Amino acid sequence: MVRHVYDFTEGGRDMADLLGGKGANLAEMTRLGLPVPPGFTLTTEACRAFLATGGEPAGLWEEVSAHLSALEASAGRLLGQPDDPLLLSVRSGARFSMPGMMETILDIGLNDDSVLGLAKASGSERFARDSYRRLIQMFGSTVMGVDASSFEHALAVLKGSRGVRDDVDLTATDLAGLVETYKDLIHRETGEHFPQSPADQLRRAVLAVFESWNGERARLYRRREHIADDLGTAVNVQRMVFGNLGSDSGSGVAFTRDPATGRPGLYGDYLPDAQGEDVVAGIRNTVPLSELERLDPASYARLRTHMETLERHYRDLCDIEFTIERGTLWMLQTRVGKRTAEAAFVLAAELADEGLITPDEALARVSGEGLARLMFPRFDASAAGTALARGVPASPGAAVGAVVFDTARAVRRAAAGEKVVLVRQETTPDDLPGMIAAQAVLTSRGGKTSHAAVVARGMGKVCVCGAEELTVDTGARRLTTADGTVVEEGTVVSVDGSAGAVYAGSVPLVDSAVIRFLEDGRGDEGARGVVDAVARALSRADTVRRLEVRANADTPEDAARARRFGAQGVGLCRTEHMFLGERRKLVERMILAGTDAARDRALAELLPLQRQDFAGILEAMDGLPVTIRLLDPPLHEFLPDLTDLAVRIAAAEARGGEADAHDVDMLTAVRRMHEENPMLGLRGVRLGLVVPGLVAMQVRAIGEAVAGRLRAGGAPRAEIMVPLVGDVRELRLVGEEVRRVLADVSRESGVTVDCPVGTMIELPRAALTAGRIAEEAEFFSFGTNDLTQTTWGFSRDDVEAEFFSAYLDKGVFPVSPFETLDRDGVGRLVGIAVAEGRAARPDLKIGVCGEHGGDPDSVHFFHGAGLDYVSCSPFRVPVARLEAGRAAL
Ligand code: PEP
Ligand code: MG
Repeated sequence: MVRHVYDFTEGGRDMADLLGGKGANLAEMTRLGLPVPPGFTLTTEACRAFLATGGEPAGLWEEVSAHLSALEASAGRLLGQPDDPLLLSVRSGARFSMPGMMETILDIGLNDDSVLGLAKASGSERFARDSYRRLIQMFGSTVMGVDASSFEHALAVLKGSRGVRDDVDLTATDLAGLVETYKDLIHRETGEHFPQSPADQLRRAVLAVFESWNGERARLYRRREHIADDLGTAVNVQRMVFGNLGSDSGSGVAFTRDPATGRPGLYGDYLPDAQGEDVVAGIRNTVPLSELERLDPASYARLRTHMETLERHYRDLCDIEFTIERGTLWMLQTRVGKRTAEAAFVLAAELADEGLITPDEALARVSGEGLARLMFPRFDASAAGTALARGVPASPGAAVGAVVFDTARAVRRAAAGEKVVLVRQETTPDDLPGMIAAQAVLTSRGGKTSHAAVVARGMGKVCVCGAEELTVDTGARRLTTADGTVVEEGTVVSVDGSAGAVYAGSVPLVDSAVIRFLEDGRGDEGARGVVDAVARALSRADTVRRLEVRANADTPEDAARARRFGAQGVGLCRTEHMFLGERRKLVERMILAGTDAARDRALAELLPLQRQDFAGILEAMDGLPVTIRLLDPPLHEFLPDLTDLAVRIAAAEARGGEADAHDVDMLTAVRRMHEENPMLGLRGVRLGLVVPGLVAMQVRAIGEAVAGRLRAGGAPRAEIMVPLVGDVRELRLVGEEVRRVLADVSRESGVTVDCPVGTMIELPRAALTAGRIAEEAEFFSFGTNDLTQTTWGFSRDDVEAEFFSAYLDKGVFPVSPFETLDRDGVGRLVGIAVAEGRAARPDLKIGVCGEHGGDPDSVHFFHGAGLDYVSCSPFRVPVARLEAGRAAL
């Protein structure tokens, strides 16, 4: 029979799929001999079975009962025992951490009798009553479906009537009254009584946690984090320990290193006389861990030792939750901690220096996405002025937006295209949609481990939390700073998540230290650590990667920058970008030419301009390959818009005058060239085959640029690429013309000009007939933008805004196929083309130049597919280098 329950002494960290992250790590800590309150874990498999059938898997409860009996035996007390009750916590714990997204129920086992026993055993009636009301509150909302705000409201009313501000000022009698109010509330709203049987409480709590896997918050979080919907959550049942038993008790959260910067040193927040949930919720402001050293040096020393043990054991930054119950330290959770991009790089380098991990492991622990984040600009400190407020720098980056005070508005205004900053006293999991919609999150309460901080860091969202001098008035939709400045909703502020500061207005941005380093080999002093760490990761990636990285660049400046970023050539030079601006007139003349002679004259004027463009790029990439693509877009893109023209002519005529003759000619031409589906029309190789002289002019410009560079002593390596080929005969016809023109140029210049001729593979037919095409092509470059468009039948220019969000919501795909390569469909075509192309021509050079060339997941795919290089925009080049290295590990 399948086993559904494991004691903490039976599991281990390698069982996270089955026991969830929390359960596996609790078991690991138990095995390491750390002080973990005993307990057991119900598996994710049990959850999946429950969710699939709506009922408990057979034998589940017998297993739970057996483990409970063992737990009771070891504690010497029974669950809910009237004179001295054993109490339990029931917590979710999925394979991947989903902070605060699912349910937790504490103090299971309390009822009208055992609350008295707890009062006696703990020596504190207030504590016992408070624990009981917490249980009813959590159970009532999570299990019985009563709106959580009804409990909050009842609590607020009680505090109001007693004239107190904080929960801690309520007396035992107040709390006993509150218990009755809560029980009445539940009965009124559900027609049911709060269950007095501890076993019932346990059973219903467990099932509610299973169900919370499919709660709205949890689903939204998974979609955002690309976590699969079918994993299910494990449930951990554990003996309660109490941090709220007086000043010698407390709860805290700690990191073995600073999760924002990666720098060494214990880091965390502590809240004396509180339960763990109070720390994470950011309800009261915590004190730094150093304060614990003063309050309870013995516990602090033990905590330090345990954390050192954990970091050495996991060989990574760990975060932990702990509770001190009357001077006894308990470890309640550990996991490899979430960290900022900066911390990931710094930590990887430091752990490698300390010999805890190898250089390859260090590389595996950083990511291209993280690097991209570090390349973003930050605020110009000299232009920032005085901060409106300062808080904890919880998640780095620079963001500007209009302040909004609730999630619904954040979502609404962001959907309307506005950049917003979500401001809250503290966030709860219900704020997740607003956090996703906002550019930044700002809270007035809570530390680096508060919900806002943890979630924002996980998403890479800018966050400043615990800006205590701010008074946030959500109802009035305004905040007030320490000096009395009032900031109303809609006011633009700048949030610096790296410095923990908030400024009025929109502060200008400057380049990040990492970009400066990538550009010119220098960073600034303050950023040394992260710059060095990035340099080391990139250098390791360059050592191990097999894929070359080239850049998509159309100007000498872009080519030069890409080269500084480490590009090993240009993989795509889009020549159409050279026909814009001033030159558009020349292109117009070429298109509109009534005679061959007129067209030749227009082409002859374009020739020197193109030659100069190519010479500049070849010089910037001297010695490295430069793949120049012949003109690709439909020609009407260079002509005025049909509607604009028609309106202009009609307006002139309506005024009683004559329309401009040029406009009238143009309108005729534009009408003649109009296509219903231009992306499937006269473009790519088709242009070269039907517009006389176009290919010859472009190839001549390339050939003459190469000859010129050779004469100047350079080492130009131009490659000529033909777009949108679907059949080998298209390529053969164009190829013949290319070679003829190059031969002419060689003869005229006296310099041998020889350029490889290859093709883009961007139509399914090209991929499926790649073996034939390779007979003519000396290289392939996958144009995965068009290949995705033509494989899916999605217009790349239209779809993203409209039905893609519905497709993402409905889970048709987890991420846009224009962003991350669709391995199953487009990827399969890539695989076929690689295999058949290489079979026909074993030395066929193969690359990719669609946007996917700079996307981390796609880079891993291209590595596996056996490509020779990826080509991407200059700013993605470092990202692609890093990911190509990681793919090779
Ligand atoms: C492509 O289609 O992937 C490509 C690189 O070409 P373009 O984006 O210019 O169509
Ligand atoms: Mg294309």
